[in-house]
Amino acid sequence: MEKRVLESENDPMGQAIRDYHETGRAGRLRVFSPQFEEDEMPVATLFRTEAEMPSLEHRALDLCRGRVLDVGAGAGCHSLALQERGADVTAIDISPLSVDVMLRRGVKDARVADLFDESFAGCYDTVLMLMNGSGIVGRLERMPLFFRRMKLLLAQGGQVLMDSSDLRYIYEDEDGAMDIDLNARYYGELDFRMQYKKVKGAPFGWLYVDFDTLAGYARESGFRAELVAEGEHYDYLARLSALK
Ligand code: SAH
Repeated sequence: MEKRVLESENDPMGQAIRDYHETGRAGRLRVFSPQFEEDEMPVATLFRTEAEMPSLEHRALDLCRGRVLDVGAGAGCHSLALQERGADVTAIDISPLSVDVMLRRGVKDARVADLFDESFAGCYDTVLMLMNGSGIVGRLERMPLFFRRMKLLLAQGGQVLMDSSDLRYIYEDEDGAMDIDLNARYYGELDFRMQYKKVKGAPFGWLYVDFDTLAGYARESGFRAELVAEGEHYDYLARLSALK
């Protein structure tokens, strides 16, 4: 697969992260999706301190061990929290603007890299993917590719810690019946596009996956999926590890 790096003029989230880092505030980071009404992402959330993180993320940080790869690290909140705990962390992101902010915030090893780019290699005991970390996989059909990458990047006995949500509640009626077209694609496959000030990003696929579906794909690729913890709103933290 070709290497994917975001150009600054095509990177609304990176621009918002840079503004917030430099001035302590940012404009509206707008999120568009054909599936939903226009929404907004609070930029301050990307700068959350450990105390401000939800409990699923605390659980994930507590479970990190050995060399950690923080994938899609954004403004580096988890990498910084892990460094404070004395962990050995590498943060990667496809946004050079975000990586620059991470370095300026004190993330010791932050690099511009695409998780799916084969030239990015390494050996990690923990691969951390948080804030709907499954989103980076993009589409269900990319799950086998994702697990192939994990096989290459994980040390013996290594683990992936990933959070996601089951979006079925959006499509369920009061009786719990699913109001979705079964011939349509999987209900957690969303399309997004972001805008910050005049900077518009390219549309991208973002995957929300229910635990059973994730576990099914894991099994097919020789991984075990454990449901570590469930949040308050259909969200959960999973641990994926290669079967011997
Ligand atoms: N994990 C962070 C940020 C989440 S936003 C947090 O919890 O605050 C998702 C981030 O993933 C963005 O910064 C985006 O640039 C990055 N990203 C998207 N696709 C990626 C890929 N293929 N490889 C690495 N990073 C990616």
